[in-house]
Amino acid sequence: MSQPVKAFRKIVYLSFPPDMSGQPVVCNLTRKFDLCFNILKAQITPRQEGFMTLEITGPKENYQQGVDYLKSQGVSITPVAQKIARDEESCMQCGLCTALCTTRSLSIDLATRRVQFDPETCSGCGMCVRICPVHAMDVDLENGTMS
Ligand code: SF4
Ligand code: SF4
Repeated sequence: MSQPVKAFRKIVYLSFPPDMSGQPVVCNLTRKFDLCFNILKAQITPRQEGFMTLEITGPKENYQQGVDYLKSQGVSITPVAQKIARDEESCMQCGLCTALCTTRSLSIDLATRRVQFDPETCSGCGMCVRICPVHAMDVDLENGTMS
């Protein structure tokens, strides 16, 4: 019996210009491209710029079409994995961040006792940035909530 195909999943960061406010472009990911989305965080600035962290799941080719559609509408889109980094030299493997990381992007390898980091599953919540005593974690999201 063949194995079910695992859905492609990506966590992305969207930036909307002011004139996009109120337009249903994110809903169109489902309507036009049969993608599922989960809004992890959303913010509108006083200047009506919008920022959103979105988890998108569905067939990989549909994901790429959806990304191309968002870009064609003027939305800036970046994988969250490209916006978070750990300074490996600064990290002292204390494990504090693993207690707060709800996505388990930061976890302790029980064999080596070292803290592993998987940016692909990171939601960009910024909790590790706040708690890290040596500032080894960096999240670069423009809405400023991560600093
Ligand atoms: S809290 Fe900072 S120093 Fe400690 S394991 Fe996490 S990234 Fe490394
Ligand atoms: S920002 Fe840090 S705490 Fe939040 S999901 Fe990503 S790695 Fe985990």
